[in-house]
Amino acid sequence: MKFYNTLTRNKEEFVPRDSGKVGIYVCGPTVYGYVHIGNARPYVFFAVMARYLRSIGYEVNLVENITDVDDKIIERAGKEGVPAEQVAETYAQAYLKDTDALGLGRPDIEPMATRHIPEIIDLCRRLVEAGMAYETGGSVYFRVGRSAGYGKLSGQKTDQMKHCELAREGESKESPLDFAVWKGAKPGEPSWDSPWGPGRPGWHIECTAMSLKYLGQSFDIHGGGQDLIFPHHENEIAQAEAVTGESFARYWMHNGMITTKEEKMSKSIGNIFLLREFLKKYDPRVLILFFLGSHYRSPLEFSTANLEEAASRLERFKNCFWKAGSLLAEAELSAAGPASQGEDLAGAIERAEAEFQAEMQDDLNTAGALAALFGLVRQINEYAVAAANTGAVDAGLLGRARDLLARLLGILGIEIGAGDYAETEVEAELLELIRQREEARRAGDFTAADAARDRVAAAGYEIRDTPQGPKLVKKT
Ligand SMILES: [Zn+2]
Repeated sequence: MKFYNTLTRNKEEFVPRDSGKVGIYVCGPTVYGYVHIGNARPYVFFAVMARYLRSIGYEVNLVENITDVDDKIIERAGKEGVPAEQVAETYAQAYLKDTDALGLGRPDIEPMATRHIPEIIDLCRRLVEAGMAYETGGSVYFRVGRSAGYGKLSGQKTDQMKHCELAREGESKESPLDFAVWKGAKPGEPSWDSPWGPGRPGWHIECTAMSLKYLGQSFDIHGGGQDLIFPHHENEIAQAEAVTGESFARYWMHNGMITTKEEKMSKSIGNIFLLREFLKKYDPRVLILFFLGSHYRSPLEFSTANLEEAASRLERFKNCFWKAGSLLAEAELSAAGPASQGEDLAGAIERAEAEFQAEMQDDLNTAGALAALFGLVRQINEYAVAAANTGAVDAGLLGRARDLLARLLGILGIEIGAGDYAETEVEAELLELIRQREEARRAGDFTAADAARDRVAAAGYEIRDTPQGPKLVKKT
């Protein structure tokens, strides 16, 4: 399995630090407003990465932080006239709620900066003791000039770096490149006691402190958006390596940015750039398919056309499941399938699994993996047409194809269920019954299969195929 490593600018064979285990740290959002589509991309990509690694047997520890103390939060609190803690709490809860709706589960650990102040202060103290940081006016700055290898992630030389943060009032930095690891408190700001007086963490220090705490030295993968490479990730490396003397994260993986043609950005697309607004208009799986339809390192244009394309892909998957499901529900186990399509379908099953794995092992090429799944969809659809014409279905074979598609889509975070074909909860339950019936039949449990069929009929329903997809119709 190969991953592109930003640190070496190469695709490299992935070798975990501890055999069979993978530790991943991803920079999550700063909670000063509702999260947008750009925040959702790393959330989705690294969740899918964790799912894939688990599916091939790795034990994964995915750590994704929430920055809950920061200049932007304090600024917003000032504008709204509320405490900074309240702004952070409000938008952290909103972030959890909005991303929960994507159905990908939570990261294993979601640490917050304000709950790791002792670890952060300890790290600052060790940097000062090592001569790698200094105090000025109640703040502590990292001495970039003493950091061997500074610039290695972003590929910049220190004498060419333009980016620098300004010294705050009453503080004097030794060099414009030096950055704050601890910020002395200003009136009205959240603060904690420290050896340098009351203050709060700088942004970069929290990720170094929390990743080392939860994943240890030289952990496997550090991720985030490409906009974080410099200065955030560069600074994380400098801080960590200054105190541990060892390499920090071994593989750095960065997702591309979401782009919009702003001059042409229509009102409708602008209105759904916030995740919560998006989800009022689209199925969450449309967003996942929109992201996974391109390689994670590519920039991705947020446009109506691209979203419609993702939505139509979801429909193609749903229709395929519907066709396979209704055929299986009708199929007699004894009936042999048409020979030619049967061989084609058997071949497609093998190809889909092999291609899916090859694409995912190649720097998590989800676009290629989806293409492999659509190859299987096409073959299932062709098989369904042939089966409908001849009235013969090899239920074992078709069931295997459908189950493989469900399993591989599930790895990508896409689940198609009975609810997709139902307009009401009662209908969803009935469709779930039909699915159970078909499973029971394939397992040879005809008593359970008959019981399920009787319950659907007793509820007074029949299933009808329509151009818009399957519909349960109440018998009159
Ligand atoms: Zn970070």
